Amino acid sequence: MSEMTSHQDIVNDQKWVSSVRDDFPFLHHHKYNPPIAYLDNGASSQKPKQVLECIENFYREKYSNVHRGTHLLSQLATTEFERARNDLAKFLGASSENEIVFTRGLTESVNLLASSLGDGYFSSGDEIIVSMMEHHSNFVPWQMLCEKKGLAFKVCKLTDQGELDLDHFQTLLSEKTKLVSLVHASNVVGTINPIEQVSKWTRKVGALLAVDGAQAPHHFSINVEKLGCDFYMCTGHKMYAPTGIGVLWGREELLNRMQPYHGGGEMVEHVSVQVSTYKNAPARFEAGTPNIVGAVAMARAAKYIQDLGYENILRHENLLLQHAQEKLMQVEGLRMIGQSSSKVAVCSFVIDGFHPHDLATILDQEGIAVRVGHHCAQPLHTYYGVEGSLRASFGVYNTLEEVDRLFEAIQKAKRMLHS
Ligand SMILES: *Cc1c(COP(=O)(O)O)cnc(C)c1O
Repeated sequence: MSEMTSHQDIVNDQKWVSSVRDDFPFLHHHKYNPPIAYLDNGASSQKPKQVLECIENFYREKYSNVHRGTHLLSQLATTEFERARNDLAKFLGASSENEIVFTRGLTESVNLLASSLGDGYFSSGDEIIVSMMEHHSNFVPWQMLCEKKGLAFKVCKLTDQGELDLDHFQTLLSEKTKLVSLVHASNVVGTINPIEQVSKWTRKVGALLAVDGAQAPHHFSINVEKLGCDFYMCTGHKMYAPTGIGVLWGREELLNRMQPYHGGGEMVEHVSVQVSTYKNAPARFEAGTPNIVGAVAMARAAKYIQDLGYENILRHENLLLQHAQEKLMQVEGLRMIGQSSSKVAVCSFVIDGFHPHDLATILDQEGIAVRVGHHCAQPLHTYYGVEGSLRASFGVYNTLEEVDRLFEAIQKAKRMLHS
């Protein structure tokens, strides 16, 4: 533990995390022996009772389709659904709830952008820039679009620390650049990218900037206007909300100029045999019955995060990260992938002479849930010359004791695999 952290800080933090843990039913049922230290939050998070109760209450008391009926239940459901949109707009610092499009998650948001911008915005010879630290979902859809439209696909290099190589980025950027899409916080190296700085550069050349915020709004506060980007995406299931719901934020004037994504009910203004006309955003991009309860639950999860307070979340998660990094560095032969001074609580690592999958199997027997493999970021792993890594990723309910358990389990696994 760092000298900056006093004994009293740790006592206070223990009190805080123990009250947070009371909110998560998963941590309190005793089915698993040993109890599971859930360190796979980068893949998905557990859900607090506030969100679970919100889902149940909605289905019990207010459930109906939205935007359709004049009857009471439909009005109630529509009000709640639109309130969720409004709350999430505020949560992200958006200036209007019309800029909040509900999607199925981050992957769908990127595909929506690639498809809707793809029809009309790009012409052959234009360039798209992503980085070597992207998740496949912010990499492959752009690569596919480039192939289809004859665009150039440029990938920004990283530094040894696992940060964007900003010099290289600036050499890639030119008048030909039409779009830059970058992860806000990496799911592997943890690095928080300097989006505000990047947006100043993209503005200058007239390129659009999209940001993959899958690993962001549950770790630190987001203000899309301040970031200066044009699109911002986040996903419910990483921020203590259910799967199958996400948000695409985009500047209203841009969204209204983009082609629709899916055709169907609710996204049209007028339909005739000859031609159909489309509504403005967000309806333009929300064909069919949306994930009504998912949207309401995502807004509830955002409120949960706000009620915990970013100050507390940051203090606690930085304590976990610091402790994890100190412990892991004591493991002989361990190499941390990503050592930025500005990162979220994620530690990816390899250990010389051991296959990550063998280690993960023993960690599982010890009740430690970590991710193993390339974490949907194969280009990044190739770039650092490894096939895969182990990843411990932390959330608000994790404890310093769980970090110690991770450390002990790694030492045990090494002994077992050596004999
Ligand atoms: C999880 C994740 C995604 C994919 O999100 P889904 O909502 O599961 O599609 C994209 N980018 C990053 C950085 C992620 O961590």
